Amino acid sequence: MSIISKDIQKAIQLLTNEELVAIPTETVYGLAGNIFSEKAIKSIFSTKKRPFFNPLIVHIPSTDSLENIVTHIPEKAKLLAAAFWPGSMTLVLKKSKNIPDIITAGKDTVAVRVPNHPLTLELLRQLPFPLAAPSANPFGSISPTKPAHVENYFKNEIKMVLDGGFCANGIESTIIGFKNDEPIIYRLGALALEDIEAVVGNVSLINKKEVKPDAPGMLARHYAPKTTTFLVDDVTAEIKKHSGKKIGVLIFKDSLKDTAVKEIILSKNNSMQEAASNLYDAMHTLDSESLDVIIAERFPNNGLGKSINDRLQRATFK
Ligand code: AMP
Ligand code: MG
Repeated sequence: MSIISKDIQKAIQLLTNEELVAIPTETVYGLAGNIFSEKAIKSIFSTKKRPFFNPLIVHIPSTDSLENIVTHIPEKAKLLAAAFWPGSMTLVLKKSKNIPDIITAGKDTVAVRVPNHPLTLELLRQLPFPLAAPSANPFGSISPTKPAHVENYFKNEIKMVLDGGFCANGIESTIIGFKNDEPIIYRLGALALEDIEAVVGNVSLINKKEVKPDAPGMLARHYAPKTTTFLVDDVTAEIKKHSGKKIGVLIFKDSLKDTAVKEIILSKNNSMQEAASNLYDAMHTLDSESLDVIIAERFPNNGLGKSINDRLQRATFK
């Protein structure tokens, strides 16, 4: 029997019993558990095979709940929350004492977000506790953007995927931390840098050499298909280098009209938003086609194109 269901009461019951439920968000599906249940949180890590040094994002129903989670909210964090929550932005702030260390991997900061999906907002409003919810995929593999992706990964491990359809934004949230109350981007994501800067002025990207590779979104290889993947500007030239092989291509908008390759166009409408939404589903599809290589076209390096290139780059690492 399928584990995919729209029954929100069943989700509430499972989560209240310290079990896991995969939940829809506008970014990707999350593998959710009660942040105050050690049993649930340990099973998030074991189900995903995620190392304990990787902290989890706490999901709350509204900005009002933030004061129970963190001790200090910089002015620019308040502006960002007002502008973008509910939405695809995660803030990393000083944690309050009641947040368990297992959630934050022992750090004194906690990552928190108000997701923008009607079913999950309803779920969070009805639950008396926040949900920790990393992406619902085995550690390092492609994130899920529809219920069937989660079911394929975890049908034997979890009892329910709350069916909220296809994820509208399709890549993970943009993560913003603070240093001396000034915002720093920890991970590019579904909210474009330009939109953030329109609210708080220039923000810097974290200097990767400064931080230990202790957060999954920062690992070089992540979000990756099993098939060897290349990221290039000139797809046609790259195809020539792999002649004789079974090739899949991920193209932004214009068909190559090459019947010898398996092609997926991410947005015929030339929309980076649509391309982001389709990205992981396209990777899942190509990865299941027994191809020898996947060749991805590099996106324009602005707006969501930057975030898409970040994910494609990590998909190429072996
Ligand atoms: P995921 O939910 O699987 O997309 O990954 C969670 C992301 O949250 C990781 O990539 C981390 O970068 C980030 N994160 C969570 N907690 C913290 C924290 N306390 N400090 C820095 N980054 C964090
Ligand atoms: Mg993840």
